[in-house]
Amino acid sequence: MRFLLTNDDGVHAPGLASLARAASQLGEVFVVAPDTERSGSSHAITLFRPLRLREVQPGWHACDGTPTDCVYLALHHMDLKPDFVLSGVNPGPNLAHDVLYSGTVAAALEGAHWQVPSLAISHCSSKEEEIALLEPYLPGLLRKLLPVAQSTRACLNVNLPPVREGPYKGIQVAHLGHRYYSNEVIARNDPRGRMYYWIGGAKVTMPDMEGSDCNGIRDGYVTVTPLGDDLTHQGKMRDMATILRGSAL
Ligand code: MN
Repeated sequence: MRFLLTNDDGVHAPGLASLARAASQLGEVFVVAPDTERSGSSHAITLFRPLRLREVQPGWHACDGTPTDCVYLALHHMDLKPDFVLSGVNPGPNLAHDVLYSGTVAAALEGAHWQVPSLAISHCSSKEEEIALLEPYLPGLLRKLLPVAQSTRACLNVNLPPVREGPYKGIQVAHLGHRYYSNEVIARNDPRGRMYYWIGGAKVTMPDMEGSDCNGIRDGYVTVTPLGDDLTHQGKMRDMATILRGSAL
């Protein structure tokens, strides 16, 4: 098996190293990852400046672009022909609405978009050093989920509860829940007297939703959500068809 690994935290992130060690127990690992932190970059692609690739160790490349750029170059220029794209392990959850902001999830979706089964893996703790503690779970998790990703051709969004809260209770297939960050923006003066703004939102509320990824994580389960790149709102399609029926221009 050939694995393309990437992330949105940068090529030197501990989560990527843990994932690489786990995946190398199952097959051959190639890494193409951003050269710096690109969390929150979503599915951005770089079109109006050149991209550079730098080999930082054999089989590991750093790219000065986004996670999506990394997957795009790996598939269409470097011709790595991976059997799977693995993205992560992200230090922090990618639950509910997070998947729209996440570079980790976008990289996996990009793989699935090009028919490569893909996993985005996130640890629901912002403490990066704790990822080493969950590393022993990763080979088993991959053995279990890779065949699922392969048979469904889907992008699987995987979240792991905080490892320090005890052994995982099992794996739950979950739909995206709802998750709201406090809508704070810090506004301050910079040293030259100009205003700057910093988007915060550390406090999170998660409404109780049966079967959601948020509930699964709260209850100590590893959650898996199949994601597709078709954002069409099927319910609204029907509503709109009703509203627009018979309207003439
Ligand atoms: Mn990240």
